[in-house]
Formats: sequence, C-alpha cells, structure tokens
Amino acid sequence: MPRHLPNQIRRLPTLMRFGPGLILAGPLLSLCAYWLGGERGLVAGVLALSLLAVAASAVMPRHALGAPGGSTTRPRFLDDLDRFLLEGDADGLGTGCIVLQFDDTATLLDRHGRATQSEVIRRIGERIAGALRAGDAVLPLEGGGYAVALAPARRLDLETMVQITARLQAAASEPVAISGRRLLLTCSAGFCLGARLPRPSAAAVLDAAQVAADEALRNGPGALRAYAPGMARKRADRDARRAELETALDEGQIRAWFQPQVSADTGDLTGFEALARWHHPERGIVPPADFLPGIADSGLSERLSEVMLFNAFVALSRWDKAGVRVPTVGVNFSNDELRNPRLADKLKWELDRFDLTPDRLSVEVLETVITTGDADVAVRNISALARLGCRIDLDDFGTGHTSIVNIRRFAAHRLKIDRSFVSRIDEDRDQQRTVAAILSMAEQLGLDTLAEGVETRGEHALLAQLGCGHVQGFGIARPMPFEQTLDWIAAHAARPRLVWQAGASPKG
Ligand code: C2E
Ligand code: CA
Ligand code: CA
Repeated sequence: MPRHLPNQIRRLPTLMRFGPGLILAGPLLSLCAYWLGGERGLVAGVLALSLLAVAASAVMPRHALGAPGGSTTRPRFLDDLDRFLLEGDADGLGTGCIVLQFDDTATLLDRHGRATQSEVIRRIGERIAGALRAGDAVLPLEGGGYAVALAPARRLDLETMVQITARLQAAASEPVAISGRRLLLTCSAGFCLGARLPRPSAAAVLDAAQVAADEALRNGPGALRAYAPGMARKRADRDARRAELETALDEGQIRAWFQPQVSADTGDLTGFEALARWHHPERGIVPPADFLPGIADSGLSERLSEVMLFNAFVALSRWDKAGVRVPTVGVNFSNDELRNPRLADKLKWELDRFDLTPDRLSVEVLETVITTGDADVAVRNISALARLGCRIDLDDFGTGHTSIVNIRRFAAHRLKIDRSFVSRIDEDRDQQRTVAAILSMAEQLGLDTLAEGVETRGEHALLAQLGCGHVQGFGIARPMPFEQTLDWIAAHAARPRLVWQAGASPKG
C-alpha cells in the first residue's frame, strides 16, 4: 500500500479483517442504492460507505486494530481463550495465557502526568500486539498491564512459554519516544499453560496467569513466573494477612510507643522517638520487626505512617497542654513512603491541623534510602520536608554507604549513630575511634548527633565526653506507651544529677 495514503485508508484492510459484518453489508447496501437511485445512487452509496469505514477506523480503539486477535473487552477475550482451550483440547495442541504488569507506573505518573503515562502504556500495548501472531488475543488490564491469550499451537510447552513471555517483556521494555523524551517502563510477567489446571476454563487460566504475574511483580523488576498451584494458596494467605493488618491499623491496635532522647551532656529531655507496636488481641505486644514486612508487602506503608504521625502529633499536643517541654518527636518513614510525592503536602496539612510548627517533627530517614531504588524522588522529597522546616535525622548512620555529598544533598540535621558503634564504647578503643571520627565529621558539616542503643551509664558517659549531642537507649528508658510518658518526664526532671555531668570521671 502506498506510504503517502492517509493512515485510516492504509488501515482499511485491517479494519475489514475485523469487520466481516461491514464487508457483508457493503454489497447489499450498494444494491439498494442502485435500485433506489440508479448509477448516481450507486456512486453516492459506495462513497458514503467508504467514508463510514474511514470514520469507524478513526474512532475504533487502536489496540483493537493493532491486536492480532482484536480482543479489547474482557468478555471477548474470555470467549477467545475458551475457544482456544476447546480447539487445543480437540486437536492435541497447547494454549495458555500471559499477564504482563508494569513494575513502576507511579514514577512515570509523578514525573510526566497521566496523559503521558496512558500514552506510554497504549504504545507498549501496540508493541505487544505487534510481537504476537495473528489469531492471538490481547486484553488491556485495568491496572495498566496486558493479558495475552495464545492461539492453540504445537509444542506450546513450558520452555516455549518462557521464551514467548520473555520476548514480550523485552518488546514492552524498549524505550518509548514522546515529545523528544525516551521513556521506559519495565514489566514483570506471569503465565499459565491451559494444561496446568485440572479443569481449565478461560477465567481460571487468566486468573492463574494473574496470580503468577502478581508473584513476579513482588520479585521484580523484570521478573517472570510460571503459575504453580501453591501460589494461589500463598495469595489467599497474603490477602488474609493484609485484611488483619488493615483492621489492626483502622482499629488503633497498631500505635506509637515513645522512647526518650536526652542531651548527652545535661541529661535534659530533647525529644522522643515514636516506635510502632501492635497491641494484638491474642498475641499481646508485637514488635515492629514481626509486622513491618507484612505492612510493606501489603502496600500499607502509607497507612502506617499516617497512623504514626497522627499518634505523634496527638502526643505533642497533649504534652504541650500538660505544660511539659518536648521539643521534637521522631517518626520513622519507610523508603516507600519517602517516594510518595504527596508527602510534603500531607505533612504540612497535618501539622497545620494540629497547630504545630514543622520543627516539632523529626523525619527519620534510613541511610539506605539514598543508596537503593530511585533515590532522586526520595532526595527531592526529603529536601522538600527540610524546606518545610521539619528536622531530618539520618537513622542507623554508619551502616549504609552515604557519601558526604549525599548528606549535604539530603539537608540532614542530625546523624543517628547506629547502635553497633555504640555498644561497649566505654571498653573498646576501636569503637571510640570510629565514633570520634563520625562526631568530628558531623561537626565539620555542622550536623547534630545522637547515639542510639545506649544501654549503660559507662557508654552514656563516654559519649558525653566525646562530644556527642544526644543519647537514646535502654540505659535512659525503654520505649513506653504514651500514658506512661508524663510520669516518666516528671521522674526524669526530678532525677539527681549524674556524676560525670558534675564534671567527674566518666567511668563512675
Ligand atoms: P530503629 O528506628 O533503629 O529504632 C530503634 C530500635 O532499637 C527500636 O526497636 C528500639 O526499641 C530499639 N532500642 C532502643 N534502645 C535500645 C537499646 O539500648 N538496646 C537495644 N538492644 N535496642 C534498643 P523497635 O521498636 O523494635 O524498632 C525496630 C525498627 O523497626 C526500628 O529501628 C525502625 O527501623 C522500625 N520501625 C519502628 N517503628 C516504625 C514505624 O513506625 N515505621 C517504620 N517505617 N519503621 C518503624
Ligand atoms: Ca529510627
Ligand atoms: Ca536506628
């Protein structure tokens, strides 16, 4: 077909392939036109039909034209897949279903907006369709991915399925050029062969491929999984766990406990860190290590940080009302949450709602947040929080690989020196040298410091002597529910002064 013809005309053969009704109606309508209007009627009729066909091709969804099987709706896709299963069964051929899911559409959405995101996904759909054989079917999925049903074929076994799926993933992952930019979306994929299920129906095969794709997505980016029966049970378990965690968050079973932070030198209270605890109806108090992975896995990190922030702000308001001075509360943010582009706005709104100034909140950021994943988004977010006036604490400092450049980019206010450098510091020269080096670097960079996991008076004393700003740990107090904090604050204010704070030897 000549290249200069308009697109719609060049697509006419494709349209006809998918529009047998139109092809049948054509001669019939032309005959009627000739009968009613003679030759002129015939010419006008044919012209009108052509225009209709061109207009129809313009409004028809493009993946309906591009997809070899032309499946655009779920019922049609399921009809095709059911037919493939029947035909395959009768002729001893194999068939199967593949689900491709994009690893990270959120970043594309944040950076380029919804229209660009949709366009990239649509173009990738065309590419997937183009990489298939005529007769296969493609279904755009609601979440942005695609399902593919393979027409029955000889030797469609596990190995071939892996090859086809990998080929589709590769096609999907090629950059898409839009307005001079090259945009990338990778995808994870799962598949299920019809023969893999005891009673295969189209819905069951599609569902199984979706289960495999979900499993792949959790192991992505770019992962590929074949459906295995155990996966469905695992998904059911995960769904149940997610429902339990959601209830725990909604009903206030998961809440903040507070651990004091004090000035290493004077011992005065300088803040609290909010740490999550699950008050489980049967298991009692569950520590975060036991439920944080489930929270992250279930996509509930944002919900947890909302709960923790709410608890922290309520606590600050109550301390203020009780007339006790608690300068800041530290809240831990997961790496996922720090990539949430709405974080700064959300925090500002919440602070305003509680009538608290931003400096009352210390955002605890793990050092690893800038060494893993898409660091740019997180760094921009953290800088926005710093500009808002929140304090930024670099948590578990010393365990990651932060460069000095990153600390500056980060706009951090304080380094939280990890417990591993603090334990037995009063007895271990190496520990002393390491912490002394961190403290002098912090001083050069104008950063405050806090030592975590201080368990003994000896450790506290030595840290004070080395010039560490603040200390936190079991040696000062364990994390406690809010209800106990007022009593602790009162008792702490009335404490006798410690020997080294009076200038005596730290070893006392
Ligand atoms: P982290 O932020 O480093 O918190 C300090 C952990 O050390 C806390 O454990 C605290 O109870 C414990 N700790 C404090 N002083 C001492 C001490 O003197 N000796 C020893 N051995 N341990 C001490 P926890 O509460 O079990 O929290 C563990 C981790 O879970 C936290 O480490 C933090 O990474 C994470 N986490 C806790 N709450 C949240 C939360 O609300 N959101 C997120 N994203 N993570 C949280
Ligand atoms: Ca922390
Ligand atoms: Ca820490």
